[in-house]
Amino acid sequence: MHQLTLAEIARGLADKKFSSEELTKVLLARIAQLDPQLNSFISLTEDLALQQAKAADARRANGESGALLGAPIAHKDLFCTQGIRTSCGSKMLDNFKAPYDATVVAKLAAAGAVTLGKTNMDEFAMGSANESSYYGAVKNPWNLEYVPGGSSGGSAAAVAARLLPAATGTDTGGSIRQPAALTNLTGLKPTYGRVSRWGMIAYASSLDQGGPLARTAEDCAILLQGMAGFDPQDSTSIDEPVPDYSAGLNGSLQGLRIGVPKEYFSAGLDPRIADLIMASIEELKKLGAVIKEISLPNMQHAIPAYYVIAPAEASSNLSRFDGVRFGYRCEDPKNLEDLYKRSRGEGFGPEVQRRIMVGAYALSAGYYDAYYLKAQKIRRLIKNDFMAAFNEVDIILGPTTPNPAWKLGAKNNDPVAAYLEDVYTITANLAGLPGLSMPAGFVDGLPVGVQLLAPYFQEGRLLNVAHQYQLNTDWHTRTPTGF
Ligand code: GLN
Repeated sequence: MHQLTLAEIARGLADKKFSSEELTKVLLARIAQLDPQLNSFISLTEDLALQQAKAADARRANGESGALLGAPIAHKDLFCTQGIRTSCGSKMLDNFKAPYDATVVAKLAAAGAVTLGKTNMDEFAMGSANESSYYGAVKNPWNLEYVPGGSSGGSAAAVAARLLPAATGTDTGGSIRQPAALTNLTGLKPTYGRVSRWGMIAYASSLDQGGPLARTAEDCAILLQGMAGFDPQDSTSIDEPVPDYSAGLNGSLQGLRIGVPKEYFSAGLDPRIADLIMASIEELKKLGAVIKEISLPNMQHAIPAYYVIAPAEASSNLSRFDGVRFGYRCEDPKNLEDLYKRSRGEGFGPEVQRRIMVGAYALSAGYYDAYYLKAQKIRRLIKNDFMAAFNEVDIILGPTTPNPAWKLGAKNNDPVAAYLEDVYTITANLAGLPGLSMPAGFVDGLPVGVQLLAPYFQEGRLLNVAHQYQLNTDWHTRTPTGF
């Protein structure tokens, strides 16, 4: 039963082949048995899950239907869940029980999804390896000595290991697409404003976006359907109608114009990944797509701009964690200053502290113009590059990451080496565009992803292309040994 996709689960439940309660029990037992190897969950919510599963079964018995009604999922542990620990992977929030549900959590619960637990993540979503969590590193099910990618690494590892069919993640600079690529999943970062950020603990507010991680594009369509939509509680949420994503999966790719940026194939890209990307292009050509070389001339400025903007916003967002209002408070503070300093010094891990310092520096008087303002100008240039490209093509295609997964600990002493892994994903966040990663093959037994980017609000186009590709390839069906 654990091999079923969301789409298959929906059919099985509708046909009364099994109940949501049965399925939930099977998956909870599987998590208990296998997750100790992976560390993909921070909290399990067995009682809530069984209660939601029974309620979903009752709704189906009353004639209700819906692709998510009774479907087991998990939430990255930065989506607030009422009465349940919402840790953000940090000691700072280890004791924090959210007083309300995030909009995404509430919407999915209303659609009948069953929450099995909260997944592990890089502390405050800062990272590309899922090694910075206060709860320990997450392991990649394809090789337990390797990282699963981050920061939504717990969601990715759990879904890749078939502990559950799908999970939520968030993507500020690649944290849905990159772990999807490194664990052989399909992951989608929606257009900025498509999915509500209300109740999603902020890292860098102008970049953060929630989205689905699943094995197939078909399942991403189902989960995104439950997450997307206007939310008056989020001032950056956009009031655009949400299309029927599942209905759009079967469009023909005949004549689809795919742009391949020449800057993507630089020295930093593992040549074996480049070969797999070329193979995926050949596959899409067979389906009728037309390939065009394009240019994104400002791409090389993306990482420096992001690593100013994201820490700047983080330093501001994380100022609320002061030992007074939320989470961790140090023992026996001598005075107010000591309370702030020690609560933050003891509650935040080293990567979070590094980002706060970089961000506070970039925003400080005298440096703002030199760093933050300049980074914002680069951001506009990057957006303009995409706008020009999308005048000529419908989709942009390339690698999701320059390298496959690396060994646990391999980049621990060199944060910049990890930052460089974000080179292909970050531009979509800077421009606010939707992006998807899908399985495209293996290098040394480790999965490789191909990334598709589309114009604003064209999530449906990404899912359509990925679904057609998946109907004609079987990379996404491969299962890691031992799971
Ligand atoms: N790796 C990037 C960072 O560390 C992106 C993280 C994310 O998307 N949350 O900031």
